[in-house]
Amino acid sequence: MINAYISRTLPLIVLLAAAATCATAQTKPVPGWSLDTLNQLRQLQHAALDDDYAYHRLAHLTDNIGPRATGSPQAAAAVDYVADEMRKLGLDVTLEKVTVPRWVRGEERAELVGYTGQVPDTTQRVVVTALGAPGVATPPEGITAEIVVANSFGELAAMPREKVAGKIVVFNEHYDRRMEQSGFAFDAYNQAVEYRVEGRAAAARQGGVAMLVRSVGGAEFRLPHAGETDYFNHANIPAAAVTAEDADLMARLSAQGPVRLHLLLTSQMLPGAESYNVIADLKGSEHPEQVVIVSGHLDSWDLGTGAIDDGAGVVVAMATAHLVKQLHLQPKRTIRVVAWMSEEPGLLGGRAYGKEHAADIANHFAGIETDSGAGHPMGVYVTGDESLTKVLQPVADVLQTSGAGILRATDEPGPDLIPLNVRGMPAFSPIQDTRKYFDYHHTAADTLDKVDPQELRENAAVVSVLAYALATMTQELPRKPLPLPDWLK
Ligand SMILES: [Zn+2]
Repeated sequence: MINAYISRTLPLIVLLAAAATCATAQTKPVPGWSLDTLNQLRQLQHAALDDDYAYHRLAHLTDNIGPRATGSPQAAAAVDYVADEMRKLGLDVTLEKVTVPRWVRGEERAELVGYTGQVPDTTQRVVVTALGAPGVATPPEGITAEIVVANSFGELAAMPREKVAGKIVVFNEHYDRRMEQSGFAFDAYNQAVEYRVEGRAAAARQGGVAMLVRSVGGAEFRLPHAGETDYFNHANIPAAAVTAEDADLMARLSAQGPVRLHLLLTSQMLPGAESYNVIADLKGSEHPEQVVIVSGHLDSWDLGTGAIDDGAGVVVAMATAHLVKQLHLQPKRTIRVVAWMSEEPGLLGGRAYGKEHAADIANHFAGIETDSGAGHPMGVYVTGDESLTKVLQPVADVLQTSGAGILRATDEPGPDLIPLNVRGMPAFSPIQDTRKYFDYHHTAADTLDKVDPQELRENAAVVSVLAYALATMTQELPRKPLPLPDWLK
C-alpha cells in the first residue's frame, strides 16, 4: 500500500520540485542588480518562510524574561540575551550606553464616589492605568474631585477657567475603529494619541488637578492602554488612561449631574539607570564601514510582555543575521542588528544613537525598523528621496511572490530611525496588517499568543530580503537630508 502510493506519487513530487526550482531561479537580468544577488534574495525569502528562529527568541523575550520596562531588571536581562544570541551567530557586539529613567507604576485606582442615582454607601470602579514615564503621583490619600468631560481640546478651551479649575479633566476622544479596519490604523492612532500626549498640559493650563484620557486603541474589553504623555517638560499633575467603557460611563453620568471621582496613583521615578542599545555587526566584505541597520525596540511597557510592541521587531532583526549566516551569504556592506532601548519613554536610544553617530551619517547606507507588530506584511514603507521606490522595484518583485510587493512612500519612518532619517539615511519598515495591533498595543494583553508564527516568518522574510538587498546592491541610494527639528538638536 505504502509502496504503491510512493511509486504513483514520486514522479509528481519530482515534477513539483523541479517546477519549484524553476520558479525560484531568476534568469532575466535586471539593470543594476546581479543575477546572483536576485537569486540570493529568493533563497533568503524561502529560508525565512520556513524558519522559527525569530519565534523561539520572541518566546524567550516575552515568556521567560517578561515585560521589559526601561530601567527594569528585565530590560537589562533582555540586553544581555540579545547580545549573547548575536555573539553566538559570530557577530561583533557592542553595547552603547543610554541613560534611561526608571519609572515604577505602583498602585493605581479610581472610583466614582458621587453621581446621580448613586446607591448610598456604594461606589463604582473606574479602570485606570497611570501614564508615564515620567508620571506624577497623587498625594498618598489620592485626589477626590469633580470631573469635567471634554470631547476635544477645542471643547475644553472654550470652557471658562472656573468651570475646569480644581477638577479632574476627562478627555473622551474616540479611537476611530472604522478608519483602523480600513487599513489606516496609524492615522486613527495618531489623531487619538494627541490627547494622551498633550492632554495633561491642556488640563493643567486651565487649572485641572488631574487628567484622564480615554484609552487609545481598538478592542473594548475594559482594558486600559498605557503610554507616554508629554515626556519632556511635563505638566505637573497626575495623568492616567481610563478604559473606553469607563470614559463612556463618566460621559453619560456627567450629562445627568455632577460626578465626583477618587483617584490614587502612587507611581515613582527612581534614579536614572544606565542601559544600552545593543549593536551587533555582521561585517560586510567590500564596504565594512557602510552599515545597513535592521532593528526593533527592546523595551516595552510594563503591563504586558511586549510581544507585538516590540519584541517582534527585535527578533525579526535578529533573524536576519541568523538567516544570512545560515545560508553562508556574504553581504558587501555591514548588516547592523540594533535592539533599541527606551523607545517607549522618550525615544532615548534612537536619539542617543543619532547624536553619537551624526558625524558618520554618510556611512549609514539605509535603515529598517519593524515597530507595528507582527501582522501579515504586504510590502515596504519607504522614507526618503522619491526615486527610492523605483530603485528598489526588483526587491519588491521578489517579495511579490509572498504577497509583500507593495513599495509605498511615507514621511513617517520607524521611530528610532527618525534621528538618522532626517540626517539623510533612507529608512524602511514593513507594511503590516495592523487591524488588530491597537487592540493590544500598550495593554496587559500584548503577549506571545497574539503573534502568529507564520506571519512572524513572513515578516522575517521581508526584512531579511530587504536588508540583504540593501547591503549587497551595487548602486548608491539617493539621500535626502531634512532640516533637523528642534527636538533632535
Ligand atoms: Zn513600539
